Amino acid sequence: MGKNNVTVGVKMQKKEIYLDNSATTKICEKSLAAFVDVAQNLYANPESLHKKGFESEKVINNAKKNIALKINCDASEIYFTSGATESNNLAIFGIIKAHERKGKKIITTAIEHSTVSECFKTLKNLGYDVVELLPDEFGNYTPSQIAQEVDENTVLVSTMMVNNEIGSILPVHDIAYAIKNKNKSCFFHVDAVQAFMRLPIKLKNSNIDLMSFSGHKIGAPKGVGALYIKKGVRITPLLYGGGQQNAIRVGTQSPELVASFEAAVLDKADKMSQNIRYYENLRQHFYDCAEKRDYIKLNKKDNTVPYIINITVSGLKSEVLIHYLERHNIYVSGGSACSKGARSHVLTAMGLSVKDIDCALRISFCTENTKEDINELFDKLDLAKKELISI
Ligand code: PLP
Repeated sequence: MGKNNVTVGVKMQKKEIYLDNSATTKICEKSLAAFVDVAQNLYANPESLHKKGFESEKVINNAKKNIALKINCDASEIYFTSGATESNNLAIFGIIKAHERKGKKIITTAIEHSTVSECFKTLKNLGYDVVELLPDEFGNYTPSQIAQEVDENTVLVSTMMVNNEIGSILPVHDIAYAIKNKNKSCFFHVDAVQAFMRLPIKLKNSNIDLMSFSGHKIGAPKGVGALYIKKGVRITPLLYGGGQQNAIRVGTQSPELVASFEAAVLDKADKMSQNIRYYENLRQHFYDCAEKRDYIKLNKKDNTVPYIINITVSGLKSEVLIHYLERHNIYVSGGSACSKGARSHVLTAMGLSVKDIDCALRISFCTENTKEDINELFDKLDLAKKELISI
């Protein structure tokens, strides 16, 4: 979502500037239209034996086919879930439960989203030998740094593709290759939530075994996502019940959520390179504005996606600034939306000072954001520096 005129009664409020698109996005028109159409017309249970059930099943199968084409995998390798929290849990616990006898060592990074790191924490409590790798001071990882930890006891490695707080890109294909070189029976899961439909993803012939996706980060509604499971990779389900989705992810399927997810995927996939160029332009403008202000520090500049920027506004606490900006109808976040004010584990892992971490803001774009939105943000940051008391 970019800007909207918000009408409250007869009073027109100032336009809304939403710069928190890594937390979630506004549903896009095509996705909403698909949701309404399917919810009203193709609402039958896809498992029902009658004609209407068959039509709903077709909606789901078509969506699998179309999404698979966009990430270069087979339709049978896609499993719909309620979102990436579930995809990450299913991937991690699913592998661990199915391959308990293979070993006890599991590897991840120190900058994962809580939906991955909490799974690893739980497994540590269950007796697994967890290795959590720190990034370098710039927030980066190399394939050899990760592969170095892999031994014959290692069952699973899980890393993200793009970090949700600093936008750093992890070279997942090279990481996958390096892992398999060390131990070809070690599984590799990738949380690709912040990369999906913004960076190209090609799974065919890759060494990636599992990949998680979320709908609401790309203009689909909340409550739908997917897990890619490479053909031949065996996982144990988390839920038991009916036999939907090969009994890997059971529960009545939602053709309307799946259709709206598919519509958002097709919309974004078609515009991926055009959107990236748009974001690069916006980011450059952001950088130009930031450079003119000595109170702004970029927390990560190289090897990042152009739609996530992390800054420190020296002397002003994130929480205070978020609410100050909100009073001017500008919406940003202090880090991951899920961490709700907790000190960023990502910036901590990069070795930033507590003072810099406590004053960090994440700005994340959608294609409705404009250079004027950025100008407005910086005007208000200038004002905040004058009006608010520094820490
Ligand atoms: N992984 C990453 C990197 C995320 O940014 C998020 C959401 O913020 C998730 C997982 C969780 O996704 P969902 O909200 O679909 O459960």
